[in-house]
Amino acid sequence: MKIYLTQENLKQNSISDILEYVMAGGGATRREIQRETGFSWGTVSENAAELISRGYLLEEKDVSKGKAGRTGYILKLNGEQIVSIGIDINKIGMSAVVMSFDREIRHRIFREFTAQNKDEVIESALSLCDEALEFCKDKYKVLSIGLAVQGSVDNKNGVSLRFPIKSGWSAVNFKELFEQKYGVFTYVDHDPKCMLLAKAFDLKKEEGNAPKNLMLIRVDKGIGMSVMLDSRICEDVDKMELAHTLAVYNGLKCSCGRKGCLEAYSSISGISARCGVSFEKVLKNRERYVTILEEGARLLAVALHNAAMLFYPDKIILTGDYINRDDSFLETLKKYFYEFDYIDGRKKIEICADKNISAAFGAALKSQTEAVKNLQI
Ligand SMILES: [Zn+2]
Repeated sequence: MKIYLTQENLKQNSISDILEYVMAGGGATRREIQRETGFSWGTVSENAAELISRGYLLEEKDVSKGKAGRTGYILKLNGEQIVSIGIDINKIGMSAVVMSFDREIRHRIFREFTAQNKDEVIESALSLCDEALEFCKDKYKVLSIGLAVQGSVDNKNGVSLRFPIKSGWSAVNFKELFEQKYGVFTYVDHDPKCMLLAKAFDLKKEEGNAPKNLMLIRVDKGIGMSVMLDSRICEDVDKMELAHTLAVYNGLKCSCGRKGCLEAYSSISGISARCGVSFEKVLKNRERYVTILEEGARLLAVALHNAAMLFYPDKIILTGDYINRDDSFLETLKKYFYEFDYIDGRKKIEICADKNISAAFGAALKSQTEAVKNLQI
């Protein structure tokens, strides 16, 4: 099929390209944009003026690059008028952030709750969004809504396929639901991917350069993994179920019905089931359960080593409830992980933990990027 580009298509593409260019670098002059995008000076000026008048961009005097006797203007993201909302849809609590267009968090909401069924999950997510929108009312225009969802997600269509609650789950098209109710572009993705985006954003802020190769492992009642290679999130990695890779041949029964999965040994629910008491009691009586805890950490270290040999990240970031509740977990895991030798003097992989990664912020970031790609103004 031939695609005919109309004047409107071209205008929309150039607006998105210009905005994406400014977003990637944090700021740019009109000349830089013209040089890098190949658009005419007229297209750059006209679209920049439009983006300034609509509150996406602002311009500041460029003191750093101005040549002697000349001052230029640099276009930057305007954080005062447009926001994205991010919501973390999690069965043990939900949180939301309101993120300005220059990616600062303006507002946070957290609600503890335990969802019993599908309707409660949906209802809670919608009411959290209502609250976030109430905060934005009369202050900000909402560009996009991003949802970070547990379980299994079809991010192309915005559908949650599986969600870890006991009373059953059938596919929920969150994208359609939110777009129909709020009339705002909505993007839905798997929560470990959103967490990795948030972490990569923070690392870029701290270190100045965008991180290239990262692996994020979330250990709580289940085990989740996301991977970034060459500064891009690997879209298909969430189909790789690290949790259900084989840890012990013919081993313990797992919640998925198979035997010997990693999750049955190394997750909070696996350890708790093996010990026959709650995870809280396991940690309180650590000496009694030390063999089970050590075995869980050792098998996870083996799985991480295997995953690291496939992706070779610079850094493995651990997050989730296990890390949050057990201060010694990271050290035990490192002890086993670093027992493996590195091939041919390859760089040692760093393992670190971060208790404060916000999946909601990552979802807001992702929804902003996607909304800008499809921007129509
Ligand atoms: Zn399993």
